[in-house]
Amino acid sequence: MLKLYNSLTRKLESFKPISPTTVGVYACGPTVYDFAHIGNFRTYNTSDLLVRVLKYNNYDVDYVMNLTDVGHLTGDNLGDADLGDDRMEKTAAKEGRSAWEVAKFYTDAFFKDYELLGLTKPKRFVRATDHIREQIELIQRLEEKGFTYIITDGIYFDTSQFEDYGALSDLDKIEQGARIQINKDKKNKRDFALWKFSPSASSGQGKRQMEWDSPWGVGFPGWHLECSAMSMKYLGETFDIHTGGVDLKSTHHPNEIAQSEAATGKKFVNYWIHGAFILVAGERMSKSLGNNYKLYDLQKEGYDPLALRYLYLQTHYRKELNFTFASLDAAQTALKKLWQDVSSWEDPAESDRPLEKDFKDYEEVFMEAVNDDLNMSKALGVMWELVKSDNPTGAKSRLLFKMDEILGLDIKNRSFEIKKEEGVVPEHIKEMLREREKLRREKRFNLADLARKKIEKLGYIVEDGKKGARVRKA
Ligand code: AMP
Ligand code: ZN
Repeated sequence: MLKLYNSLTRKLESFKPISPTTVGVYACGPTVYDFAHIGNFRTYNTSDLLVRVLKYNNYDVDYVMNLTDVGHLTGDNLGDADLGDDRMEKTAAKEGRSAWEVAKFYTDAFFKDYELLGLTKPKRFVRATDHIREQIELIQRLEEKGFTYIITDGIYFDTSQFEDYGALSDLDKIEQGARIQINKDKKNKRDFALWKFSPSASSGQGKRQMEWDSPWGVGFPGWHLECSAMSMKYLGETFDIHTGGVDLKSTHHPNEIAQSEAATGKKFVNYWIHGAFILVAGERMSKSLGNNYKLYDLQKEGYDPLALRYLYLQTHYRKELNFTFASLDAAQTALKKLWQDVSSWEDPAESDRPLEKDFKDYEEVFMEAVNDDLNMSKALGVMWELVKSDNPTGAKSRLLFKMDEILGLDIKNRSFEIKKEEGVVPEHIKEMLREREKLRREKRFNLADLARKKIEKLGYIVEDGKKGARVRKA
């Protein structure tokens, strides 16, 4: 039975889907004005894990992720998401291209890294700019029910009209007023924009590139609105799971809940899953602090993208992960060892040796761990126990490849690649290895050592295992 920590109730709960077969999952995706960093990807990795675990539990998953390509203002760094510049337009001005080009460029870059990390492709990636009509319709529903008001810069959601604002969500207390520039025209500090008007021609701010007609005037949607409009369009007015980074608990998600539930009169989402941050030297990794690494930075240093995935798996998703290169090194070493070990196993198809008596237990313990609120570090431990166990390798690999449906470490392909590469070790090197083996059997260890050094000089590594020595390219 899958158990998940639900931020809404602050409890570990047994997961009960709305439909017995299909689970709806919505993930808050990237704002595509810059490259996503490895902190952002930790959050998408958590959503990915959740989806894989749901699938392993035999659910069909309707997975939707949004791409914010309009309306995310710079003010949210200061605590007010309705003030400041539109991130897309700001980057466009800086980089000398159109806001649409900026969106396309960073969306493509995001997709590339997403794929390199082996993250599950959602059934739908949905763009805010493709759903302007749905967002306007949602504002109209809210307007009809008396939840909106108009001030000079836009249409706002009146939180005082929504009795359960914040309380229903029971999410973190919504901090306001601290470092925030507050829009003085708002009725309540926590009210938020549903629609922002484009600056007037006389304001001197220049014309926006991304703007649309609406019943209230030309403008663009508020940031929170897209997630309500698009998730409800594709997953229904009430759906199972909503994910995002822990920062979204304070404003973005309570606002999504308020505007969705005010419009429908129904519960919006049953389970809220929030992933903790990646830190660097104790500080949150972020685009604005300039302390972030992109996947590309790691690749340039010779890291495999999946080493990052392995690193993510080692820390529970609700715990902060302090990023260091030493920990990434260790993750990469462990992962390579895993691929290497498995490459020496026989082909699962070729093995019909029976399973050991206790063999089945590994899968049970593994499943217990992943179903316990995605305890992946424990699951990794079980995986290693299996790898090191004395069970027949064919049977071990069958189970391991199944576990990898959740782990996502590409074990089958990578170990096979190593096997293939080793298969093409030239005959003269293999002959040298056989010679060395013979010397060892004859206990002429000094000569055997010299033989090994000779092989290594030619660019190959000799590995001594239980079943004898093997040689592979260095
Ligand atoms: P953004 O592109 O800024 O809208 O952020 C996209 C996602 O990444 C959101 O779900 C954020 O909560 C999450 N996020 C931002 N910074 C970090 C971090 N340092 N560690 C983990 N997740 C993060
Ligand atoms: Zn969102």
